[in-house]
Amino acid sequence: MADGTASYAPVAADLSDARRRDEADPLREFRERFAIGVDPIAYLDGNSLGRPPKATIERLHQVLDAEWAGRLILSWPERWVDLPAQVGDQLAQTVLGSGPGQTVIADSTTVNLFKALHAACGLRPDRTEIVVDDANFPTDRYLVDSIAAERELTVRRLSPDPESGVTASTLAQVIGPRTAVVLLSHVDYRSGYLADLAGITTAVHEVGGVVVWDLSHSAGLVPMSLDEAGVDFAVGCTYKYLNAGPGAPAFLYVAAQHLSAVSQPITGWFGAADVFAMAASYEPAPDIRRMLSGTPSVLGIVAVQEGLTLIAEAGLDRIRAKAVDLTEYTIALADEKLAPLGASVASPRAAADRGGHVTIRCAGAEDVTRRLVEAGVVPDFRNPDLIRLGLSPLTTTYAEVWTAVDIFARITSRRGFTA
Ligand SMILES: *Cc1c(COP(=O)(O)O)cnc(C)c1O
Repeated sequence: MADGTASYAPVAADLSDARRRDEADPLREFRERFAIGVDPIAYLDGNSLGRPPKATIERLHQVLDAEWAGRLILSWPERWVDLPAQVGDQLAQTVLGSGPGQTVIADSTTVNLFKALHAACGLRPDRTEIVVDDANFPTDRYLVDSIAAERELTVRRLSPDPESGVTASTLAQVIGPRTAVVLLSHVDYRSGYLADLAGITTAVHEVGGVVVWDLSHSAGLVPMSLDEAGVDFAVGCTYKYLNAGPGAPAFLYVAAQHLSAVSQPITGWFGAADVFAMAASYEPAPDIRRMLSGTPSVLGIVAVQEGLTLIAEAGLDRIRAKAVDLTEYTIALADEKLAPLGASVASPRAAADRGGHVTIRCAGAEDVTRRLVEAGVVPDFRNPDLIRLGLSPLTTTYAEVWTAVDIFARITSRRGFTA
């Protein structure tokens, strides 16, 4: 429930109830499309590294055999060279709710953020400030600091309530006629707070600024429409909810209206107008390819493609609906079983303000996490007192969540639980 009240009726907190929820889950068949072994018994970190789809494993074998071993370098012109923009379009359509020609798959989120932030600052050369929030992911904050130093900009920092996040009204206190660029995360990596992407984008535009969104914790989880919201730039990971595997390349979106004006600092040959002309000097591609730099990771992009195919089949609306239900269920269980032991929910209580993970604040969080992992439950420890329970709608079961919270409670209550 969006108002966060009606759904906190006590859950029938037994495992058979959790199994009934799994049987009624419209997405239950998708779990079988992933390679899932017996360990761990509860994997609650799919928001950090998603599980491998079976189709991805098969496809990678096929690419290795038929395309790499079979055709060697001939595969570059035959199949690989256009993959960054082709799969970028597929991601735009499936995940970003945006039109073609504005998205590429390339590099890491960190490198793409570096390029997007420079490109965004370049669109407002007369402005002097760049805005970021203290709760943002380290890479985001560190890049803002170094880019501000390099471009002689002043960093304006927001310190949002750690259990919620940045809103258009808190942002209003730090943006104005000097604001060049605002960088925010759509879903906060710690609290799970889901920011108002469209409202904040409008607020930044009202003061004449440019917005860069980090979609790492919302891409493939929360439906969005970047074109309709008027977003300028966006970046995000593919190894989280898109299940593309460790180190899979990230995505970078630039709104069509900016493409002819943007320049980015890593001016490699793959971003050149004619890649194979080997021209004497750099001439940027006229289109989204100008955001590319070097040779793309073919195996990684192919894995992104398979992850997207699964998301498209499941449908983002159904994925979001299950994320809401799973997080509500997790919060209800935590209130019932963990709160009496002193461990509290540190994520927004209104579903409309929440992404796909539920964070628990507890004493000795690092030690509790270690004991959870020993007991076959894999969450994510966040310094100093937070444990993140990541729920991946295509693979996480209610029974998994029930088991995890049950073991968590037994560890926390020190009733002699042994793994
Ligand atoms: C996971 C994450 C990243 C990771 O960036 P990499 O370059 O892939 O290491 C960046 N930003 C946010 C908000 C994240 O959640």
